[in-house]
Amino acid sequence: MPRDPFLLLMDRDGTLMVDVGYPNDPDTVRLIPGAAEAVREMVKLGAVPAVVSNQSGIARGRITRDQAMAVHTRFVDLFEAASGVKLPCFYCPHGPNAGCKCRKPKPKLLKMAAYTLGFAGSPTVIIGDKPADVLAGKAFGAYTIWLSHGNMYTEEPPPDAIANNWPAADAILRQWIVTKDETA
Ligand SMILES: [Mg+2]
Ligand SMILES: [Zn+2]
Repeated sequence: MPRDPFLLLMDRDGTLMVDVGYPNDPDTVRLIPGAAEAVREMVKLGAVPAVVSNQSGIARGRITRDQAMAVHTRFVDLFEAASGVKLPCFYCPHGPNAGCKCRKPKPKLLKMAAYTLGFAGSPTVIIGDKPADVLAGKAFGAYTIWLSHGNMYTEEPPPDAIANNWPAADAILRQWIVTKDETA
């Protein structure tokens, strides 16, 4: 049975690839276990996936734009090889004090992704490993899943769901899809 599409927004560092802090070397890019498999399965269930990522290392002078692009390219290629899914990526390159509207926890990066992909107003899920991901998702009106890696969530408001790894996130997403389709 065909499913109604939904937007699956995901943080990058610490969510889809191992967080090394201001990644500047494409050779260090490693995927988080289970992420590619889960995204591949979610696409079969109607997900339109995209990445929304803060990359303040550029503004902080920790990484160059060329390094950021090299890491981006390596990440997209690795993820596509593992999942068959080529991820569109939306980045905020600004620093925390720049006053931009796209750095999470603000929701503009999520809005840009939704409009660019033609899924503004569609049901949306965001998965991320930081409170900023949850807060941006709440401001956007998304269903929020916090990828905890076993940590405690201490901020307010809490996420809609907590998954300690990608298989757990996959199970939560499947339940969310069922609920979404029942209430549609
Ligand atoms: Mg992260
Ligand atoms: Zn920004």
